[in-house]
Amino acid sequence: MTETLFKKIIDRKIPADIVYEDDDCLAFRDIHPQAPVHILVVPKKPLPKLVDATDADSTLLGHLLLVAGNIARQEGHEDAFRLVINNGADAGQSVFHLHCHILAGRPFGWPPG
Ligand code: AMP
Repeated sequence: MTETLFKKIIDRKIPADIVYEDDDCLAFRDIHPQAPVHILVVPKKPLPKLVDATDADSTLLGHLLLVAGNIARQEGHEDAFRLVINNGADAGQSVFHLHCHILAGRPFGWPPG
C-alpha cells in the first residue's frame, strides 16, 4: 500500500506543526487552515476512511474524540468547536488516512457546506 501523506508525518519523514502525540494518534495543525484553530487528529493505524473501521477499532475511535476534545480545551475553545470527518472524495476527503478536523475560533453555520 502506498504510504499516505499523514503516515509520512507520523513517521517524521515530512514536517508538521505537531501539537499532541501519544501511542495511538498524532495531532498537528492543518497546512491550509479553515479557521483560526484547525488541527487534524490522525490515528497511527492507517485506516483509509472511517467506514474502514471495525469493531476492533472502537476504542481507537473513542480515543480520537477524547483527544480532540482535550486539544480544543488546550487551545482555549472548549465552549465552541466543530469536529469534521470527511469520508470519501465526494464528501471532501483528500487524504485517505482517517483524520478528524478540529475547527475553532470563528462562528460556524448550519447546515454545513
Ligand atoms: P480532507 O480533505 O478531509 O482529507 O483533509 C485533508 C487535510 O489535510 C486538508 O485540510 C489539508 O489542508 C490538510 N493537509 C494537506 N497536506 C498537509 C500537510 N503537509 N500538513 C498539514 N495538513 C495538511
